[in-house]
Amino acid sequence: MKRVFSGVKPTGHLTLGNYLGAMRQWAAVDQHRADALFCVVDLHALTVEHDPGRVRRLSRQSATLLLAAGLDPELCTVFVQSHVDEHARLSYVLECVATDGEMRRMIQYREKAARERERGGSVRLSLLTYPVLMAADILAYGTDEVPVGDDQAQHVELTRDLAVRFNQRYGQAFVVPRATHPPVAARVMNLQDPTSKMGKSEDVGPGIVYLLDEPDAVRKKVMRAVTDSGRDVAYDRERRPGVANLLEILAACTQGDPRVLAEAYDSYGALKKDTAEAVVETLRPLQARHKELRADPSYVEGVLRDGAERARAMARPVVDAAYRAIGL
Ligand code: ADP
Repeated sequence: MKRVFSGVKPTGHLTLGNYLGAMRQWAAVDQHRADALFCVVDLHALTVEHDPGRVRRLSRQSATLLLAAGLDPELCTVFVQSHVDEHARLSYVLECVATDGEMRRMIQYREKAARERERGGSVRLSLLTYPVLMAADILAYGTDEVPVGDDQAQHVELTRDLAVRFNQRYGQAFVVPRATHPPVAARVMNLQDPTSKMGKSEDVGPGIVYLLDEPDAVRKKVMRAVTDSGRDVAYDRERRPGVANLLEILAACTQGDPRVLAEAYDSYGALKKDTAEAVVETLRPLQARHKELRADPSYVEGVLRDGAERARAMARPVVDAAYRAIGL
């Protein structure tokens, strides 16, 4: 059976982008066809200015939402990164294989570092080394596939490079993984600025649909989405990013094809209305399940405890072997 690993950062409230780009596939497909691990990657939330209490709350909320989205602890392993020491242990070893040049070339690092500097803040060293920790997250489990949104493609590519380099230098220690992306909505864009991705970590505001938004809030955000100056509905990500984004969201929520859907609409108003309703319906069961789970925190805690134990047992032999191979 294939091994699958993926994660979410508890840096904000989870969004429709996280769901359509990643979590939905994890629940609908990956946990059924693979030996899958899904992780709340809380160490990654410390790479930018953070509030300790908020990170703790968001970690718990993110784990609850993963379960609400349909991850079933009978089928897959759900856990919190910092509960398993192997991630940090392996990260250090991989730092001895990675170079500072390749870290500085990472697009997300460049963007986030620029933003921190603009705010007058300093850049944490962990922001630079973040992709190495992510590589450790993946490689510690002998992962074959990493289902992610396409914003993570470069980091998974780096993970492959590090695995290959380590194996060549020190002997076969790691499986070389590959990224997989959903067929549509691999990059959901911000509704107010369809040239930038809908990201929980960077912004807050009317361009982002959060998984726990009330139906009326979802409707309002979708109805106010920025579209383009043209009037006909066409699927063109380059020239019509706003409309293309709505078509992709609608397609992802209704198992449709954005090109086919474009033919069915002749006004932006009707497209927005149907998209809003499709999102509301997509989120409804998740929100209902979240409410139940929130009322039972000891259940979630138990899932995370068992998950960490299982994850530790899988990661330890891989990380021990890497330590031996590199000379420790
Ligand atoms: P964020 O950028 O929102 O902080 P994370 O780094 O926690 O997200 O990513 C969790 C998963 O969600 C990753 O697989 C990532 O690729 C995916 N993802 C994040 N934002 C989007 C988006 N706007 N569209 C599609 N997938 C996304």
